[in-house]
Amino acid sequence: MKQKIALFWHRRDLRIEDNAGLYHALKSPYPVLPIFIFDTHILNKLEDKKDARVQFIHQEIEALQKAYTLSGGTLKVFYNTPEIAFEKLLNAYEVAAVYTNHDYEAYAIERDTKIRQLLTYKGVDFYSFKDQCIFEKDEVVKDDGKPYTVFTPYSRKWKAKLNAFYLKAYPSEKHLQKLYKENNIPSPSLAAMGFEKQDLSFPEKTIQTNILNNYHEQRDIPAVRGTSKLSLHLRFGTVSIRKLAQAGLQHNEKWLNELIWRDFYMMILHHFPHVQHSAFKKEYNHIAWRNNEDEFKRWCEGKTGYPIVDAGMRELNTTGFMHNRVRMIVASFLCKHLLIDWRWGEAYFAQKLLDFELSSNNGGWQWAAGSGCDAAPYFRVFNPELQTQKFDPKAHYIRKWLPEFDNLNYQQSKIVDHAFARNRALEVYKESLGKVK
Ligand code: FAD
Repeated sequence: MKQKIALFWHRRDLRIEDNAGLYHALKSPYPVLPIFIFDTHILNKLEDKKDARVQFIHQEIEALQKAYTLSGGTLKVFYNTPEIAFEKLLNAYEVAAVYTNHDYEAYAIERDTKIRQLLTYKGVDFYSFKDQCIFEKDEVVKDDGKPYTVFTPYSRKWKAKLNAFYLKAYPSEKHLQKLYKENNIPSPSLAAMGFEKQDLSFPEKTIQTNILNNYHEQRDIPAVRGTSKLSLHLRFGTVSIRKLAQAGLQHNEKWLNELIWRDFYMMILHHFPHVQHSAFKKEYNHIAWRNNEDEFKRWCEGKTGYPIVDAGMRELNTTGFMHNRVRMIVASFLCKHLLIDWRWGEAYFAQKLLDFELSSNNGGWQWAAGSGCDAAPYFRVFNPELQTQKFDPKAHYIRKWLPEFDNLNYQQSKIVDHAFARNRALEVYKESLGKVK
């Protein structure tokens, strides 16, 4: 008779240390075989075969595989649909249980429901755990049980609820003797999956305490390295949120607040799934967007003639990252100055951002458009020049990403006049919202 084993399914948690689901799997009565699936449902939809995120995941999977091998285990990697991968696993092994961590996006929920059904049908238990946020779903709600839609009271309740229990690490790394031992099988190469490797360097995953200590003073200045750049690692779970929240508590409450924003937007997506496709405030579905395709193209390429906007878009196009202050400026510019539907910008960011995460990206865009929960009021239109004077007064950031900044032709190439665009936005918003009432 074959030996009974448990599977641990890695998804957005590409680490061995302090991993809730992995910890529970290793504490089960069975030896544990960790798995990862390069999901063809997702990969086949990616048009850009140089997608840096696939390269990052591949790099992290190779590192995980090495780490598991050194600990006497094996990471089994599939390039397939999850349904077929599980059929194969159930045929090859006597699987007693499958462990994983919660994933909250619509596609993931649908995928997990299917896999849970398949496993239940075959008599296999499926266990899933909270791992990628501190508080999820209904854990932080108003006294009447309803979800918060405004950040500040949510964050107060979040902090009041926080105690050592929620920050405690799950020491998965201390139980690796429970790994199932098997001959190592190499994982598919990037090329075999149809992707090309590029010469890229990704932000490091170390928590730099000097950055956290100065965060409240430097976080808004795009020319300095004032933010943690941990978003990519949070996205793929290569760092533990519990460890980061502890660092926030210890070093800087302002920074901790940013991690709370992340939980907040995940909670919003859970309670208000309509935000994925439409405005949180329904009346904003009726804004008469201009949606000019040529202007959208100029925005994407960083050719609007507004230096801070163009520098931001060039940073995004070159590195897959953009500073938060600049994300706010370019997003506002697209929605207000150009009157282009926020969903166009959201989709472009989704394609380009290394740290792309549905909930935060959607939250950020709806905030900029005025349509989100706790959004900026629609009549507050960022002035790109004033923003530049405040946050990049010597144009250090601008010059880094926009070589033609000092060139006269560039300075005369504004896509639209600020005062004109501002008035137009106010009129269109006012009229569109007025019609709904
Ligand atoms: P830090 O300032 O060091 O913050 C630490 C962590 O807190 C971040 O890594 C991130 O996980 C979280 N965080 C910070 N700011 C926010 C925020 N406003 N909302 C939610 N979480 C936050 N963040 C994403 O992770 N993925 C996205 O797809 C995304 N899209 C955005 C789109 C727009 C239009 C806007 C305005 C913001 C978006 N953000 C997104 C939020 C924010 O810009 C990034 O999280 C941040 O710039 C990442 O840099 P950092 O790791 O140095 O952040």
